[in-house]
Amino acid sequence: SVKQEGRNSWAVFHADMAQKNVDDPLFLQDLSQALSRDQFELWYQPQYHAPEHALAGFEALLRWRHPTRGVLLPATFLPMLEKTGLIISVGRWVIDAACRQLHHWNNQGFKHLTLAINLSPSQFEQHDIYDQITDSLHRYHIDPMQLTLEITENTALKNIERSVQLLNQFAQMGITVAIDDFGTGYSNMLMLKRLPATELKIDRSFVKDIRDNSRNVKIVSTIIDIAHSMNMHVVAEGIETAEQQALLTNMGCAYLQGFLFARPLPAEKVAVLLQQKRFTLSLECSDSSQKK
Ligand code: C2E
Ligand code: MG
Ligand code: MG
Ligand code: MG
Repeated sequence: SVKQEGRNSWAVFHADMAQKNVDDPLFLQDLSQALSRDQFELWYQPQYHAPEHALAGFEALLRWRHPTRGVLLPATFLPMLEKTGLIISVGRWVIDAACRQLHHWNNQGFKHLTLAINLSPSQFEQHDIYDQITDSLHRYHIDPMQLTLEITENTALKNIERSVQLLNQFAQMGITVAIDDFGTGYSNMLMLKRLPATELKIDRSFVKDIRDNSRNVKIVSTIIDIAHSMNMHVVAEGIETAEQQALLTNMGCAYLQGFLFARPLPAEKVAVLLQQKRFTLSLECSDSSQKK
């Protein structure tokens, strides 16, 4: 299957590709050279603050512009990056590239955007992860309030003592820590309470099956209420329909992200969006308008 992402670029994903790639020595060779050949890119998916109908910021999502295969999604190469340990150097690049992008937006006068980056388990375990992040923030004069770090429950719970300490350090700096894909891991609300995270991202699988009066609605609204009682704000990812948007907004979920509003966009498309001052959550920002 071929999926279009953005207007000119094509992201290719075959369901069995990730598995095939693991056994393909040529693919591994390409992957190990991708960083030095400058083939990685960050694409940016808008996140909206529903009560203000406003663009809040973006999530940075890794893409690999493969010389012959086109723009590849993380599912095709992230498992291999993890397996080989290459994720450490690529992850460093992601942190730096994200801060560089924020610097660029700030210089253009868009000073209040937030940018979320994903940290893999092995990245989070790096002893110098705090320094990697603060170094990049300083290098580009970024207000830590603009940065969000997304980790999954399982990443956070692997070594909870260390996680609590590290997340506290991030929080003291003003960095937002988000628990990504919430509901898919092993955590429960009690463990969540121990983590000094300030944002919770409801996994796409819950959003997908949400229908009026369904059991999922009750589960999701309970998650939202508990998160709010812990002073966390809530982001719903994977919003594809107006019905999902309405249900989540009615449940009090303030932040929304999904193909209904926009797909992940390459930096040059974000520049167009910002220059056109398309900061409001309206049809002009929706995916359908991108198709012309
Ligand atoms: P994630 O962090 O949960 O990111 C959200 C994923 O959901 C993205 O997939 C995004 O394109 C997709 N998505 C957002 N809205 C919708 C929607 O309405 N419908 C559908 N069907 N999908 C939607 P993507 O870009 O393929 O990334 C997949 C995963 O790869 C991410 O999931 C994250 O776990 C990982 N990842 C991406 N970039 C990085 C990175 O820079 N570093 C690390 N360590 N992991 C990354
Ligand atoms: Mg994420
Ligand atoms: Mg997620
Ligand atoms: Mg997810």
